[in-house]
Amino acid sequence: MSRIDLHLHTTHSDGSLPPAAVLALAHKAGVTALAITDHDITTGIPEALQAGASLGIEVIPGVEISSRFGESELHILGYFLDWQDPALHARLAGLRASRHSRNPQIIERLRAMGQDITYDEVRELAGTESVGRPHIARVLMNKGYVKSAKEAFDRFLAQGKPAYVPRELPDPAEAMAWIRAAKGVPVLAHPLWAKQNGEGLFALCGRLKTEGLGGMEVHYSTHNPKQTAELLDIAKRLDLLVTGGSDFHGLTKPDIEVGVGRGGLTVPTKLLEPLKHAASA
Ligand code: AMP
Ligand code: ZN
Ligand code: FE
Ligand code: FE
Repeated sequence: MSRIDLHLHTTHSDGSLPPAAVLALAHKAGVTALAITDHDITTGIPEALQAGASLGIEVIPGVEISSRFGESELHILGYFLDWQDPALHARLAGLRASRHSRNPQIIERLRAMGQDITYDEVRELAGTESVGRPHIARVLMNKGYVKSAKEAFDRFLAQGKPAYVPRELPDPAEAMAWIRAAKGVPVLAHPLWAKQNGEGLFALCGRLKTEGLGGMEVHYSTHNPKQTAELLDIAKRLDLLVTGGSDFHGLTKPDIEVGVGRGGLTVPTKLLEPLKHAASA
């Protein structure tokens, strides 16, 4: 079946495979178009474009920006943006800097709990300027302190756990404005992270739309059919674009595969044209 996948991470942020390897998996899964949406960085896009050209896969330039939502986070995806835009670069560089101020504090907490880990080790494993908690989880895995990234998050790194340190984040409106300024379309990633019920989520997305939101990630690896239907309904009522993707990361989310998520994901190819149209409007 023909499908697309508009949410993929690579080694340029916290994914464990380089862009060309992600494209190779996409090709095998029958993906005809995809977006590289690394956290706070666009350096993976040239390699992806090149691999896409040789495999016949359309590559959409993207990014994922975390934003502050009270005690938790909303993630905003940006599609079809001018990924070489200097203002966007400056803003993403600022976000990566906020990672470097937070991460050593996480490491300090882990060390205080007896774990032999340094930020240098994390930076070396990451091999990118966009360093995140999944990289810390992988160092803990490699050292045998945890068996999986899930265990690292559940015991130490997730919000409310002993090594959690929040990071300075933009408001959703700010993140969306940055994406719009780079001619991209802002889309709310994995909307259920907002932990809102139907009407609460409807109200939230309605507000986000007034602040620049263009679409909603209705199709996602962990959504069940009922959740997908509810999100589709909200998107329709608010006249938001419908998108979808796997949020593939490789090693730190080993149950999620490119194109098919946990096996049941199919993001319809027909969703691409309206998104493209919105980006050029
Ligand atoms: P950070 O950007 O450094 O705050 O790390 C957050 C990222 O960690 C998210 O974007 C997810 O990709 C990942 N993440 C969050 N929770 C988990 C989990 N339980 N297992 C694996 N990865 C996770
Ligand atoms: Zn991630
Ligand atoms: Fe996310
Ligand atoms: Fe993501």
